[in-house]
Amino acid sequence: MKMTQQNVDWTVAQLESVYGEPEQNTRPKPMDNLISTILSQNTSDVNSRRAYKSLREHFPTWEDVYAAKPEAVAGAIRSGGLANQKSQRIKRVLEYVRTNNGSFDLEWICGEDPYDIIDEFTGIKGIGVKTISIVLCFSCHQNVFPVDTHVNRICQRLGFVPEKSAPKKTFWTMEEYIPDGKARTFHLNVIHHGRTICKSKNPQCSECVLLTKCDYGQNSINNGN
Ligand code: SF4
Repeated sequence: MKMTQQNVDWTVAQLESVYGEPEQNTRPKPMDNLISTILSQNTSDVNSRRAYKSLREHFPTWEDVYAAKPEAVAGAIRSGGLANQKSQRIKRVLEYVRTNNGSFDLEWICGEDPYDIIDEFTGIKGIGVKTISIVLCFSCHQNVFPVDTHVNRICQRLGFVPEKSAPKKTFWTMEEYIPDGKARTFHLNVIHHGRTICKSKNPQCSECVLLTKCDYGQNSINNGN
């Protein structure tokens, strides 16, 4: 499927027709969300949630995490994997935010141009476009479309981006086409679709509402798969 506004709109609508518009019951504070998203890197949701809970139990405030030794932070987040690396990332982010803002309150980012925030925060080692775009999307309700592994795979299969497009490249390609107010819904629906139908292995193309326009699905059906 060619990358056109019409095709992206169609894809958004097709997925909404089966999955609806997922509700967001709580709005995480930007700083909480940023740290929790760092903890979610390269691990499962279950493990990252466990690590975040443990971190907050050991260190109830971000000031406490900031003051703690990196080894102590790593010990608290061990269940999330890559603990030493993530503890350093967390410490770096806290250091950056405190030095530049004088506190750990990140609410101000929601009032800024999201692309300036992406530019600023991806300058911190260990923070990528996906991490900060999740914060902007879910904590700030900005129309920013985070690209994780499911989103990237599906955008590639549909033909919106080249087969080997890196997530960052996919993010910037998709960004121009996300309809106003649809980034969060579309992101959640694509992820749901990736977990249930368009799985990494053996996608269920014959059951997919995107099949009629999907490059990969059409090839797969034509080849008898
Ligand atoms: S048709 Fe197949 S490859 Fe295309 S989006 Fe659907 S499940 Fe994925």
